[in-house]
Amino acid sequence: MVTETYECFRQRVHSRETTCAEELERALKSIEENSHLGAFLTVTADAARKSAEESDTRFQRGTPRLLEGMILAIKDNISTRGIPTTCGSRMLERFVPVFDATVVERLRHHGAIIIGKTNLDEFAMGSSNETSHFGIVRNPHNPDYVPGGSSGGSAVAVAARMAHAALGSDTGGSIRQPAAFCGIVGFKPSYGRVSRYGLIAFASSLDQIGPMARSVRDVALLARAISGHDPADSTSSEQPPINPRTAPLAERSCLGIVGEEILSGCSPEVRTCYEEVCRLAQQAGYRLVPIQFDSMDAWVPTYYILATAEASSNLARYDGVRFFFFKQKTAYEMMTATRTAGFGTEVKRRIMLGTYVLSAGYYDAYYRKAQKARRWIVENYRRIFSTCDAVLLPTTPTPAFHIGEKTSDPLAMYLNDILTVSANLAGIPALSLPAGRSGNGLPIGVQLQAPFNADEVLLGIAYDIEQCVLARATA
Ligand code: GLN
Repeated sequence: MVTETYECFRQRVHSRETTCAEELERALKSIEENSHLGAFLTVTADAARKSAEESDTRFQRGTPRLLEGMILAIKDNISTRGIPTTCGSRMLERFVPVFDATVVERLRHHGAIIIGKTNLDEFAMGSSNETSHFGIVRNPHNPDYVPGGSSGGSAVAVAARMAHAALGSDTGGSIRQPAAFCGIVGFKPSYGRVSRYGLIAFASSLDQIGPMARSVRDVALLARAISGHDPADSTSSEQPPINPRTAPLAERSCLGIVGEEILSGCSPEVRTCYEEVCRLAQQAGYRLVPIQFDSMDAWVPTYYILATAEASSNLARYDGVRFFFFKQKTAYEMMTATRTAGFGTEVKRRIMLGTYVLSAGYYDAYYRKAQKARRWIVENYRRIFSTCDAVLLPTTPTPAFHIGEKTSDPLAMYLNDILTVSANLAGIPALSLPAGRSGNGLPIGVQLQAPFNADEVLLGIAYDIEQCVLARATA
């Protein structure tokens, strides 16, 4: 197992208690011992050993970089040069990118050690990590439960200490929801703050890469390293890199807290945990103001119309010409054979739904209406943030559910995203952090959301809340 956090590990290297090479061997051993959890699709042990040696040299010379020796796992929908990048799909089973995603390039530049690629729901579509072509992922706290999705492999790699941290992608909650289910911190930055170049597209106007780790400070460090303008991504923000201030805030700000309209849909354990965190925040000096989401009924339907519409268009490129080859007599037959064999059930369901809402007769009734609803959601947030600095809400309505519990009921699965999708629709930053446990020992998370581009404020408050929760746990 790796050291509790990267920050602690770095201190231990400085005080010569351990080395990057030793830490890497502990990580590799942990991957081996936990192979039943299904977290990794590819482990790049040899390349990682080489990077670890280089990191040790840098530490010895006194020239360590920002992330020197940080052991990182990368979700398998983020392109890595020379390393298979499958998206959890048969379609990309043999795809080996010829370039690194911008985030991967930046991680390498800052001295991180890439240990491998993690399992995910096929094309990042799912909330339970049960749709990968390469098998399910299990929750390390109880292997009969799901780890959440779609960045489940990344969450498990961090939670079971096979890596210090990981990258995930979040289109409707795929970083925050698995982080909550596995008891770690997961951060979705503001849309555009982190380059999507090299992220295999699901729904481009919602997709965002972000860090997952065991502390807010580790997450903040990673956010700083991977954010900042990228000319290779036309939607990349001109804002400077995220530069968080993760020290206790001098002046406690104002937190918006949610009421019955959200809490009545949550399990009693999630509710209790949320209310406890509100109390801790208040004790710490935060002013709490009740807020009201009037757009809430529109969140899930709007998300699933827009996300599937964009997915149906993005996934049209998998036609058999480049990524998967079926020798057939005609182009039409090739496409049919490729798409039939290459995509799994959930991906096909979404392509059909997305094609339907974009079709001539239904465009106005669904797609255009969903675009309008999205504007309304953005306005709703704007109003809310005129009364508070950040919003505190549960990450998920329940703790992790049983494997197989929701696979036959896509709607029940989609509703699990109710509390996460609105942040993607509004493009705002959001973070989940561990807040407690259920009676049977499964982690429960709380979520913070802040105004667009207030990523620094969000991380500062998150650090503060994390400290309150930790202080209560040790009290
Ligand atoms: N669970 C959501 C979905 O299935 C979100 C996925 C994601 O964020 N990648 O669409």
